[in-house]
Amino acid sequence: MLGAAIHLMPPYAGEGVNMAMPDAPELSQYLLNGNHPDTLNAVKAFETQMLKRASATAEETLKNTELLHSAGAVKFMVNMMQGKE
Ligand SMILES: Cc1cc2nc3c(=O)[nH]c(=O)nc-3n(C[C@H](O)[C@H](O)[C@H](O)COP(=O)(O)OP(=O)(O)OC[C@H]3O[C@@H](n4cnc5c(N)ncnc54)[C@H](O)[C@@H]3O)c2cc1C
Repeated sequence: MLGAAIHLMPPYAGEGVNMAMPDAPELSQYLLNGNHPDTLNAVKAFETQMLKRASATAEETLKNTELLHSAGAVKFMVNMMQGKE
């Protein structure tokens, strides 16, 4: 699986597409680089690094989801726009 089908996340970091777009070229590299004995192992290796990459961003979206629904949401947004968050 690729994209939001495997790393669905809330939209509060604006990173969903940025996580989805590299999936296809990265998967093709794993399938074609000759470093894996078969397709199953290539896909497993791709998934391991892809989930690590997307998990770090998913954590950010979860943090922003909480902050943007908190009492301090407006202050958080203003700080973010000013590059202080
Ligand atoms: C409000 C909001 C704001 C966002 N803002 C940003 C942003 O600023 N920056 C950013 O990077 N990301 C943002 N995202 C996330 C981004 O939209 C998703 O990460 C991205 O669309 C995922 O792409 P995808 O191709 O994996 O899945 P999708 O775009 O969900 O595409 C899946 C497609 O498959 C189709 N489909 C489903 N089931 C079937 C079926 N059985 N048969 C045939 N077709 C089917 C669907 O109709 C859909 O067209 C936002 C998301 C939301 C909801």
